[in-house]
Amino acid sequence: MQNAGIIEKEHFTKEDLLILLSLQGEDLQMLYDKALAVKAQYVGRKVYFRGLIEYSNLCSKNCYYCGIRCRNKKYARYTLTDEEVIEAALYAHRNRFASIVIQSGEQTGNKFTDAIERLLKEISRLTNKELHITLSLGEQSEETYRRWLEAGAQRYLLRIEVSNPGLYKKLHPGDNHHLYSERLGKLHILRKTGYMVGTGVMIGLPFQTTGDLADDLVFFRDFDVDMVGMGPYIEHEDTPLYEYRDQLLPLEDRLELSLKMVAILRIMMKDINIAATTAMQTIDPHGRERALLAGANVMMPNLTPLKYKQEYLLYKNKPGTQDDAEKTKAVMEQNILAAGDEIGYGEWGDPRHFKKRNAGM
Ligand code: SF4
Repeated sequence: MQNAGIIEKEHFTKEDLLILLSLQGEDLQMLYDKALAVKAQYVGRKVYFRGLIEYSNLCSKNCYYCGIRCRNKKYARYTLTDEEVIEAALYAHRNRFASIVIQSGEQTGNKFTDAIERLLKEISRLTNKELHITLSLGEQSEETYRRWLEAGAQRYLLRIEVSNPGLYKKLHPGDNHHLYSERLGKLHILRKTGYMVGTGVMIGLPFQTTGDLADDLVFFRDFDVDMVGMGPYIEHEDTPLYEYRDQLLPLEDRLELSLKMVAILRIMMKDINIAATTAMQTIDPHGRERALLAGANVMMPNLTPLKYKQEYLLYKNKPGTQDDAEKTKAVMEQNILAAGDEIGYGEWGDPRHFKKRNAGM
């Protein structure tokens, strides 16, 4: 084992990260083993559920990689009713998930922001504030972030997607509506507002180098993020980026690279929450289990009503779109137990990293 010394280091340099991202065979297994040991020691072998509610597939943006971008006219657009959102939240509460995520394409305007505020208040009231709520609703004004926090949200997930501003430009239209600087600024505002802040990246994109991925890891560390959701980029045929599919790594390689990112990040940021994402499961039916064994500790069972699931496809072949909430939960329970972890039923599972920072430790 040539690279044992690097794995044991307290602080990885960019050169270290490049070596770790290229590990294979026995060396790679050693990386995964180390990440799992760090997870066991710092956050425990426990996985927390966040019931995912895909509130609306309407989006004002046109990201070149995304299936629900506004220019894609092939999807029927939907927004859940308040009753549908509340029913899904109550399902999570009854089943002791302890947390939900409300996600949507990016929308602004009073109708949208008021609806979210109303839902947050209603869910908090009906569950006696026993559910912790993560929002994943894109770039909003500081005032909106604050209103939603006051209405009952605790966490916010805003993926930076790629931390290299040059690469970000290639993946988005060159207008004022898709600015890297804006997105980064929003992450800082979310932190200042008081949320537990999550971000994430896509792995295996066209034009992306291993150096970019190493920089993404450094970005997470420098921002001192509380939660990360990252996974393999999976091409969607109705997007402009599909044109570059011949430049992509095979899917299994993109998954392996994603698992390496999870493992390295777990070693770098020991007490954050890291999601085992659905995109990993798209490539391998054991993808989520493999992510748990590489250091992930959060899963997001999809509670969106079945009739809408096919309309929220950011990428193709998303798994579980034919499964109702019960089946989704059962599959994820199996994944967790197969990985040798337990399920943190009835526990918020807030990132320890956040608690520690706020306790001034
Ligand atoms: S990635 Fe998000 S903001 Fe971009 S088009 Fe898709 S849903 Fe909209």
